[in-house]
Amino acid sequence: MKIDLHTHSYYSDGVLSPKEIVEKAVIAKCIFLSLTDHDSIKGLFEASEHSKCFNLEFINGVEVSAKFNSQSIHIVGLGINPEERTLKEGLKKNNKLRIDRAKKISEDLFEVGIEKAYEKASAISKTKYITRTHFAQMLIQEKICTNMSSVFKRYMTGKKPGSVKVEWASSEDVINWIHKAGGIAILAHPLRYKMTLTKLKKLVSSLKILGLDGIEIANSFSRFEDIKIAKLIADENELLYSSGSDYHGWPNQTNALGGVPEYHLGRKSVINYLR
Ligand code: AMP
Ligand code: MN
Ligand code: MN
Ligand code: MN
Repeated sequence: MKIDLHTHSYYSDGVLSPKEIVEKAVIAKCIFLSLTDHDSIKGLFEASEHSKCFNLEFINGVEVSAKFNSQSIHIVGLGINPEERTLKEGLKKNNKLRIDRAKKISEDLFEVGIEKAYEKASAISKTKYITRTHFAQMLIQEKICTNMSSVFKRYMTGKKPGSVKVEWASSEDVINWIHKAGGIAILAHPLRYKMTLTKLKKLVSSLKILGLDGIEIANSFSRFEDIKIAKLIADENELLYSSGSDYHGWPNQTNALGGVPEYHLGRKSVINYLR
């Protein structure tokens, strides 16, 4: 059995439409799918309607940008009601921060000789949503960089040009928005944050106090050891297990939608709480 509870469409930084994401999940023989665009719930209705044509259970989701102390983290909301006001207002604020940041990234890139970055990155997005990935795609198209990972090594991170700090909503607020919308709050890709294991454990236990419900224990890149560590951290904090590919559909992306089998989750699976 396959499930995928972390995917992106062009309502954030993915390339496919919500309908196409659903079709990919059907081809991959997924039984559960969630669309979790960055700070965006715009694609949920289309995906949810289209999934009714197939034997696929669709779960409304979102991947919210949040802050914990000075660390940016991603909190996935699963089983949310996209009509709920508090969540909608919160996401609107995060998107305003995205646009402000995009303009600052553009000003910064101008300083190193890259002109009209905001306009060019916006033109790449099929919707009004803008992410660092759109800038990354632009830098690749302009032949300034050769691939995604080289972009994030040279630009928009650390002390590199285009690195802009964003005061995303607090983790406490984000968890509350998700709960208010009837969803469960999951820490996305815990092993991808650049922190020591001790710091990560501290982060997870602090988030648990704020109401975190689960963590992603596997994605399509997880090695056996990664899954073991993530499960250990989840167990120490009595958190549920979730998983997803983080599929974006970019060219050369090697992770397949539906790439994580459900057996990784077992009885602690978030699916049991979403049914
Ligand atoms: P944003 O939410 O606008 O800050 O953009 C973050 C997105 O950029 C992530 O969700 C990834 O899709 C992408 N990203 C960030 N860092 C990297 C990286 N090192 N390699 C590839 N993609 C990255
Ligand atoms: Mn992304
Ligand atoms: Mn993420
Ligand atoms: Mn993601």
